[in-house]
Amino acid sequence: MVNKVLMIIMDGLGDRPIKEFEDKTPLEKACTPNFNKIVQKSQCGLMSSLGKFIRPGSDTAHLAILGYDINTYYSGRGPIEVSGIGMDLHEGDIAFRGNFGTVDDNLNITDRRAGRITEVSEFAKALDGIIIDGIEFIVKPAVAHRAGVIMRGKGLSSNITDNDPHVVGEKVRKVIPTDNSKEAIFTANVLNKFMKQSYDILKNLEANKIRKQEGKLEANFLLLRGAGTYPQGMQKFNTKYGFNKSACVAGGGLYKGIGAFLGMDIINVDGATALPNTNIDNKIETTIDLLNNKNYDFVFLHIKPTDSLAEDGNYLGKKDFIEKVDKSIQKLETLNDDVLIIITSDHSTACELKAHSADPVPIMFCCNGILSDDVVEFSERAFSKGGLGFIEGKDVMQLVLNILGKLPLIGA
Ligand code: ZN
Repeated sequence: MVNKVLMIIMDGLGDRPIKEFEDKTPLEKACTPNFNKIVQKSQCGLMSSLGKFIRPGSDTAHLAILGYDINTYYSGRGPIEVSGIGMDLHEGDIAFRGNFGTVDDNLNITDRRAGRITEVSEFAKALDGIIIDGIEFIVKPAVAHRAGVIMRGKGLSSNITDNDPHVVGEKVRKVIPTDNSKEAIFTANVLNKFMKQSYDILKNLEANKIRKQEGKLEANFLLLRGAGTYPQGMQKFNTKYGFNKSACVAGGGLYKGIGAFLGMDIINVDGATALPNTNIDNKIETTIDLLNNKNYDFVFLHIKPTDSLAEDGNYLGKKDFIEKVDKSIQKLETLNDDVLIIITSDHSTACELKAHSADPVPIMFCCNGILSDDVVEFSERAFSKGGLGFIEGKDVMQLVLNILGKLPLIGA
């Protein structure tokens, strides 16, 4: 009986025909005997994560595929990013992604990353715990120049602008409310007070005096963006679907963030870099161990480089990387037969555009008892003839629940 799920998302996997590949896509051109073996036992189709002709971001696409309506549960990237660095979000919190940057005396940005500072713990600590008008600011360091920021207290809104102009040479922006609600006006007002106070603290911080002496750029301003609310009443993944233990195996921070945001356990794997050199073997071996031996009943395995290579227009690299994944995928033969395997992507990333596109992506469901179809090869074109037809991201978890026999009965 199938009672566990492995969902593999190869980011930006779908693509368009490439002239240099005789009008084949990188996936069609790639030699994928191990994927094809799984295809032949699968029900296949095409999927658009946010719906037809909608061009998805990676964050919104993942939420949709995992069954969370983005109109209700997505207000900005902040909550996902802060979850990814292990910050604990409460209902009503407003979360941001932050950079420690450098500004001059007129608050013009001279460097958005404070001279590529490698570590910001001391700077984050200096701002952590400040309370203004009853609102607490929680500031934690992330990788390199990055930080996570949470505003906690009553009457907050994420309907405010960034203070980050995203352009060197421009003055940092005053945060303004984007609607007329008293919550948005209050939030912008408190945040502006915090920005002033935090600039004064950072400017006089011993660590910055030392940086200056060493000829390094000071980390004297916190640039914030991606304000989002932690949604009220959001059910964590396990509760929503009745899983006991779910895990996220990913190299990229955003994807660990999505897993953490939904309450999955984040499993760190040696060599999982989210870059083309990533250790796929380790990720797959870890995943198999979680499902076969560690009592996990849902694992989300994310693979990033298919997207980043396509964003560079590197179709050859994308093809080669797909072949690298194919070699490791062979290990899935050792998975117990109680696991449903889903292999898909969050969106297409067209090498031609060097960007995400609204083209649908292949999706396959493989498990004991699945009604397999006539598709024999892993590709966008072949999957357009699959038995699953065309589905949207919001259908994916419904299909999972159906296969696991967990869908509620409508009627008698
Ligand atoms: Zn993506």
